[in-house]
Amino acid sequence: TVPRSVPLRVEGLRKEFGGITAVDGATFAVEEGSLTGLIGPNGAGKSTTFNCITGVHEADAGDVYFRGEEISGEQPHDIVERGLVRTFQIARQLGEMTVLENVMLAPGGQQGESITRSVLPGTRGRVVAQERELREKAWETLEFFELDHLATEYAGNLSGGQRKLLELARALMTDPSVLLLDEPFAGVNPTLEEKLLDRIHDLREQGLTFLLVEHDMDLIMQNCEHVIVMHQGRVLDEGPPERIKNNEEVIEAYLGG
Ligand code: ADP
Ligand code: MG
Repeated sequence: TVPRSVPLRVEGLRKEFGGITAVDGATFAVEEGSLTGLIGPNGAGKSTTFNCITGVHEADAGDVYFRGEEISGEQPHDIVERGLVRTFQIARQLGEMTVLENVMLAPGGQQGESITRSVLPGTRGRVVAQERELREKAWETLEFFELDHLATEYAGNLSGGQRKLLELARALMTDPSVLLLDEPFAGVNPTLEEKLLDRIHDLREQGLTFLLVEHDMDLIMQNCEHVIVMHQGRVLDEGPPERIKNNEEVIEAYLGG
């Protein structure tokens, strides 16, 4: 079999907060088109790893490569533009906007037309066309997640699960090729959890790559083809679910905290 390419590679990543080493030399790779799970006990450094990959934090050491290029130290919006995107919780201000507005205003969703250029003679038609295109894309995305009936609802009024679907919808508006999901099922009821999982599998069939942090071990083992285990800021083991499930060290890391 031909080995699959590796869009995301993390080498020797390290991040400290004061005296705490949150990530302590983590090294791993994510294969193209995979649904890769990232697991580990609370405080293992999973979220900090995501933050370093996406430019939210600057790592103290180590490198992040995206499609062969080093992206360490790049600004978050530049990393989004590359197609490496994480979901963000809907902030309070966004709760006061409608679901449709939330999707249309997703970072990177707007085309890069500056205000000065948009008022120049002759550009207005183009801006209107772009606005229409953005609106169509937003509606298509809402329909895909079955959120279209909630388009005019304030995001702040959504249930926990609907909000998670909206977070994923917003991320998709940026046209990612690799999506990082940090506990996307937290507080989601089983019906919406299944819907969210179905959409993730749909998107994967379309070629998207996922790195998924999730504490529900059964969900990870049933849905991911590759699992990376972090413990105390390092990668303890990685491999197919069958390997991870039977690794004594992994079991101990969970039981021992
Ligand atoms: P996980 O997501 O695996 O539960 P985190 O990456 O959130 O783990 O946290 C790893 C360690 O880093 C924890 O000890 C946590 O308290 C600490 N930590 C995470 N973010 C910060 C921060 N912004 N400031 C200080 N300490 C942090
Ligand atoms: Mg976390």
